[in-house]
Amino acid sequence: QAKREGMDNYQLYHSGLNLQTYRKFMLQNDLRKALERNELIVHYQPRYVVQEKQMMSVEALVRWNHPDWGLIYPGEFIPIAEETGMIGQIGKWVVEAVCKQWNEWKGKGLPPVRISVNFSGQQFLHKNMEEEMKSIIKKQEVDPTYLEFEITESTLMSNQSAVLKMINSFRNMGIKISIDDFGTGYSSLSYLRKYPVDIIKIDKSFVQDHSDESRALITAIITLASQLKMKVVVEGVETNEQWEAMKAMKCDEIQGYYFSRPLPSLELEQFYARQLEGENIRKAEMQKEV
Ligand code: C2E
Ligand code: MG
Ligand code: MG
Ligand code: MG
Repeated sequence: QAKREGMDNYQLYHSGLNLQTYRKFMLQNDLRKALERNELIVHYQPRYVVQEKQMMSVEALVRWNHPDWGLIYPGEFIPIAEETGMIGQIGKWVVEAVCKQWNEWKGKGLPPVRISVNFSGQQFLHKNMEEEMKSIIKKQEVDPTYLEFEITESTLMSNQSAVLKMINSFRNMGIKISIDDFGTGYSSLSYLRKYPVDIIKIDKSFVQDHSDESRALITAIITLASQLKMKVVVEGVETNEQWEAMKAMKCDEIQGYYFSRPLPSLELEQFYARQLEGENIRKAEMQKEV
């Protein structure tokens, strides 16, 4: 009935659908046009490397600047992209945007940062993914060692041999692989042994639940990861207490609102510039001392 000609949005909204259903219906339709209308944007969240005491990489997080609904977060539209088969195109667009951004920062003379990109399961296992990534990276002339692809535990468990093959081919290109939201899926720790991944990102639920059990699990993951030569990033650090606790537990990297929220590219640039200045100041002071 909704497809009936001449039925405008107002009528559709008043035809008995609740707001949530209405919104989803509209978003499903609009997502097809979002790419050509340039409505997607990427924000970048700094990741802090504990040992170096500075940001050395950022996570790319897509947003949709919808003309009527305002800023829409990926938690809402990525599932719609998967349902409607748009995820492949959107994923490609994100990687392309990230590569262009990397080059823009390079052109401005900023020391390169690594950029991590999220992949949904469907997207990671898409049949031409490997070739498509190769061609984007080649066209945009990005050093692939500055790229990181994040996949989730559920992706790891979905089609094990295909995932393993994909991980290996991306790693052969020089791209880092991380497991995102680690601990929320139903895989066992022994999965880590099976997959040659570089980084484990512990899900924010572990740091935000201050229980002894959660802290013990984080410690166990950090210990195991170091034996497997993997780095550990703890996500979702919001308070000073959590920040200090994670540093004390010797995780490799910390990501969360406490260090920085995801930022539009220009703000990220300013954040980075401030860090670089701070570093320059420190170096200058050290020179004075000798
Ligand atoms: P994620 O990959 O686990 O990304 C981290 C999410 O946690 C982001 O939400 C980020 O804004 C949020 N976050 C960061 N620090 C904190 C903190 O201290 N506290 C809290 N409460 N949250 C924090 P966001 O940007 O809404 O993204 C949600 C999810 O959408 C991502 O989770 C990722 O799975 C997915 N996503 C984002 N961008 C893309 C994309 O380009 N492609 C695909 N396939 N998925 C994406
Ligand atoms: Mg992620
Ligand atoms: Mg995560
Ligand atoms: Mg995630």
